[in-house]
Amino acid sequence: MRLRNVKGSRDEIARNDYVIKNPENNRGSWKEYFGNDRPVHIEIGMGKGKFLMELAARNPEINYIGIEKYSSVLVRALEKMEEAPLENVHFIRMDAEYIPMVFSVGEVDQIYLNFSDPWPKDRHAKRRLTSRQFLSRYDQILKEEGKIIFKTDNRDLFNFSLEEAELAGWTLDLCTFDLHHSQYLPGNVMTEYEEKFVKKGNPICKMVIHHEN
Ligand code: SAM
Repeated sequence: MRLRNVKGSRDEIARNDYVIKNPENNRGSWKEYFGNDRPVHIEIGMGKGKFLMELAARNPEINYIGIEKYSSVLVRALEKMEEAPLENVHFIRMDAEYIPMVFSVGEVDQIYLNFSDPWPKDRHAKRRLTSRQFLSRYDQILKEEGKIIFKTDNRDLFNFSLEEAELAGWTLDLCTFDLHHSQYLPGNVMTEYEEKFVKKGNPICKMVIHHEN
């Protein structure tokens, strides 16, 4: 069943077992929630979940949580899960702004940010998911040496992200301005937006950063 309207989306999310309700109740006890000691990787702004689900199918030894702000988008991921269920993927519908209320210090091993909204106006810079404000939130939940992996075709957003990471004292582990013509391509899992932009011929930028506390 396709759920196109928002009300239907909310109802579906409320009854779907793959969606974690009241995720703040698991803060500090995600290992108990999953019932295992496996690493926890999250994708923020996962959209329809193509990337996350492909990654999860390849890596059953990792627990994945997809975070998406909009119910109407998240239901698309739930529809995909119905077609090909995966045990190691769960979802949270929330604004990433609240992420430190959901995970405690060191509970997350890796964060993926893919083709995040650019918020081009200067006055909206702090809404960008790679702004210093968001980097500080990620720093509160990532384990020591935990990484952020960011891809985008938006060169302005990428340059901004590199600057913010440097200013906030993060270390750059990998950086390419043209992933698809680089040594880093093998093993790359394409996101929905990435497929679209690669078809158009846009170069894809990728960075990996970590923060030493
Ligand atoms: N990552 C997917 C991809 O690469 O195909 C989707 C990219 S889409 C441009 C950005 C997604 O991030 C949208 O689904 C949007 O709703 C979500 N998003 C934007 N801001 C967010 C926030 N603050 N918290 C959670 N999700 C957010």
